[in-house]
Amino acid sequence: MSIVKIQSAGLTSLFVMLAAALSAAPAQIAVPSKTQVVFLGTGAPPANPDRSGPATAIVVNGVAYLVDLGPGVVRRANAAAIAKRIEALEPTRLRVAFITHLHSDHTVGYPDLIFTPWSLGRREPIDVYGPRGIKSMTEHLIEAYRVDIETRGNPNGIERDYPDGYKVNAHEITTGVIYRDSNVTVTAFPTKHAMESYGYRFDTPDRSIVISGDTNPTQATIDACNGCDVLIHEAHPIRAVSRSAVSKEFAEKYHTNTAQMADLARAAKPRLLLIYHVGTSAAADRLFDDLRSRYSGLFAIARDLDVF
Ligand SMILES: [Zn+2]
Ligand SMILES: [Zn+2]
Repeated sequence: MSIVKIQSAGLTSLFVMLAAALSAAPAQIAVPSKTQVVFLGTGAPPANPDRSGPATAIVVNGVAYLVDLGPGVVRRANAAAIAKRIEALEPTRLRVAFITHLHSDHTVGYPDLIFTPWSLGRREPIDVYGPRGIKSMTEHLIEAYRVDIETRGNPNGIERDYPDGYKVNAHEITTGVIYRDSNVTVTAFPTKHAMESYGYRFDTPDRSIVISGDTNPTQATIDACNGCDVLIHEAHPIRAVSRSAVSKEFAEKYHTNTAQMADLARAAKPRLLLIYHVGTSAAADRLFDDLRSRYSGLFAIARDLDVF
């Protein structure tokens, strides 16, 4: 059993599982990874003040790659930059993002990413990758903030010297390798949600990381992970969540419960499973208990600003 870097304080869930795992198998403590997974928002639509909207950063060699832009993304990134000393998450350095799907809980932070860092001094356009519709969403957001853009960019505007800092290169993707630079190769795979949706696999010099977005269990996710270092997957407790009939039906079709999560993880075999997209604290507790009783691998219920 090996384990990745654990930077954040108070990772009770992980430590509990670590203890269980270590008691069952000889320990092999690995060298800390250079690549960091930073949870900026581990929430879902409920406006839980402790769990910001879905947003995750993969940080490699001082560059942050964001996955999803839930509400609060820039402030949470700055919180990580300050509290965890991860400079790559300073607002003006946020320049690349991947969107799993266009549900609002994953994209309400998009205008935040476009405009807040610009007003703080970002000079370059950003690159955003996502499903069909991301270009239109981008154009509409720019248009919605036209007055702000014109005011900041006019001869008296404080951003007049860097007029490109709010611009976006929006890329509509399909499956396969969709991005590559000296730090990462990003591969998109189809997921099963209420609209066109993708999960992403990040291959960095020292880690393989798969993130699901919102999805029903899929073979594509299992194949994308296939023994990966880290699988970040959504899940909800199998029982006793107060849902309407409509919401229950939706969850059964388009999300993943803990029994399904355990089956999927056994097939995908990640070295570390991290659960996110958690609505409430009660749900987080139930998720942990549920999964512990069904899955013997190493896992944690991620919390905002956790770093793995
Ligand atoms: Zn969602
Ligand atoms: Zn969704």
